[in-house]
Amino acid sequence: MDIKFVKADALKEKPDSSTLGFGKIFTDHMFMMDYSREEGWHDARIVPFANISLHPASTVLHYGSEIFEGLKAYRTADGTVQLFRPMENIRRMNVSADRLCLPQIPEDLAFEVLTEFVKVEQDWTPSASGTSLYLRPFMFGNDETLGVHAVHNATFAIIASPVGSYYKEGINPVKIMIEDEDVRAVRGGTGFAKCGGNYAASNRAGERAEKKGYSQVLWLDGVERKYIEEVGAMNVMFKIGDEIVTPMLSGSILPGITRKSCIEVLKSKGYKVSERLISIDELAEAMENGTLLEAWGCGTAAVISPIGEFCYKDVKYTVNNGEIGEVTQMLYDTLTGIQWGNIEDSFGWTYKL
Ligand SMILES: *Cc1c(COP(=O)(O)O)cnc(C)c1O
Repeated sequence: MDIKFVKADALKEKPDSSTLGFGKIFTDHMFMMDYSREEGWHDARIVPFANISLHPASTVLHYGSEIFEGLKAYRTADGTVQLFRPMENIRRMNVSADRLCLPQIPEDLAFEVLTEFVKVEQDWTPSASGTSLYLRPFMFGNDETLGVHAVHNATFAIIASPVGSYYKEGINPVKIMIEDEDVRAVRGGTGFAKCGGNYAASNRAGERAEKKGYSQVLWLDGVERKYIEEVGAMNVMFKIGDEIVTPMLSGSILPGITRKSCIEVLKSKGYKVSERLISIDELAEAMENGTLLEAWGCGTAAVISPIGEFCYKDVKYTVNNGEIGEVTQMLYDTLTGIQWGNIEDSFGWTYKL
């Protein structure tokens, strides 16, 4: 497809790496393209980063037709820029689109526009240790009517934000509140789709946890509030005895690409990994009898987040003395090593621009 390029009149000054944070600074341009039932995807364009104008009845503003993705461009030591498993994000976006009745984007088209956009903005990929260019593709329904139905018009866009190292002073284990009141998703719902609505429904529990000094919540299943699902914006894994356990993809859990990559790294190194149901009672017992050796969250933003404490029904449990464990550290070193090109990518996961 032809991608029109409208260059920004003046380019912004690149920020100092130490001030980046997460998702606060945006690059000079953004990608957009529109969909209608009659024309399909059309009008692909890279334009100056600017506000988006919407009809006040636009579907996304009333009925939440929105999905998104998150991936990063990494600058390697030789200066080249690479992506990590971008086709996985593209495939997942189409799965999310299917669930929300948003249009599919052919994989080769999505790959073409993503890589073209990153090429235009690649100078924004910072080089300081742990920093990267976060890419946020998103799609929303944009019919100009209040009628409720599958959308006929949609917009797909990609914005980019240089982001800092998630960990300022080394990797610090996080404290997690196990949520037993609100639920995030149910089977048959949208839990497996990366959609804004899941986050809207999660915020209340997140705020409550934060007030008590916890950084994120661990969700239990929406039916029995018994089985562990995932943490905020990360999947979760446990080392119990010599088994690595992670909740199976039941339909209400987001199938993380970091989760999948962890499982593949662990299996390649001979670890026993089980994707299965794990109940809160099993976890509580493992915390009480000392067989829970490590726990960590995994997702694109932080890669691997060691968990140092859980709180469940006001009882606090410390994991591994609040320190990062051996398996957690190995996964962090392996994934970040591949992403920033410091160790050989024997899995073929990286794509150089
Ligand atoms: C994006 C996301 C994850 C992590 O997925 P990655 O592909 O590893 O970044 C986990 N849970 C939720 C709810 C998410 O939105």
